[in-house]
Amino acid sequence: MPVLSTISHEKNELSHFRVDYLTLNVRSFNNSSIDSSAKGRLFNSTTIDSSSMAVDDISNSPNEKFLLILGKPGGGKGTISKKILKDFPDTEHISTGDILRQHVRNKTELGKEAKAYMDRGDLVPDEVMISLVLEDSMTAIKSGKHILLDGFPRTIEQAVALDENIDVEVVVDLNIPTDTIVERIADRWIHPASGRVYNYSYNPPLHHGKDDESGEDLVQRDDDKPETVRKRLDAYDKVTSPLIQYYEKKGVLKTFSGTMSDKIYPEVEKWLKDMGLN
Ligand code: ADP
Repeated sequence: MPVLSTISHEKNELSHFRVDYLTLNVRSFNNSSIDSSAKGRLFNSTTIDSSSMAVDDISNSPNEKFLLILGKPGGGKGTISKKILKDFPDTEHISTGDILRQHVRNKTELGKEAKAYMDRGDLVPDEVMISLVLEDSMTAIKSGKHILLDGFPRTIEQAVALDENIDVEVVVDLNIPTDTIVERIADRWIHPASGRVYNYSYNPPLHHGKDDESGEDLVQRDDDKPETVRKRLDAYDKVTSPLIQYYEKKGVLKTFSGTMSDKIYPEVEKWLKDMGLN
């Protein structure tokens, strides 16, 4: 598959992680510079080649947590994530939407292929996303920080792949009414070169239609156009919302409902502290 081979070429620094589809090759992982506490977050009894790794190496329980944030497109995942990063600075943020948009901006092979799906409001295929996220998560895990994964998983297949390799401990589920989201997305404009995001209602640019730093024009994301937004919301209901039950059953998820991120966030913060995040 062309996209997958592209990823490994573009990420030369990751070449010692051979991330097969759904399978982390822990032999190379073990040889890497990941510290043992970071390894504790990775657990996999079925796909890991344990011949090269003592069981103790992967069974200790570190303080760093692996968090997910779930919620409808345009439902404030980015805003809440930013607040989490500010209050819990030992946290690394991985946003699949941001990573994909960066590939699109840089016109990489992956970006060219992903753009077609994104512009239509479709999901990028699972095998592409799984490789991308597992590779990036491995790098972030090396940092020894908490990890906040935003925008992944979006399908049960992605959740299962993640589960087979990483111990997800905390899932923040944002439940925002669809009408609020449709209004909000219409107000969202971006600066394409930097990815900076503005919202005319609650985070407006200093000058209408212009980026604060460069003064360049703001545009609407192709996938923020009303018809595409409806398609993304439908896809969320059909394909992504079953993940709520999936993580509820595991006892790691809490749902936060409301329309304003500022009102929701203090609840999220309190729960994260209760869950041991610091
Ligand atoms: P939003 O949460 O507002 O939909 P994102 O920035 O998270 O936006 O994602 C933008 C687009 O990137 C999605 O509509 C989809 O096409 C693609 N994408 C992001 N994450 C995934 C994923 N986990 N699986 C498949 N496609 C994804």
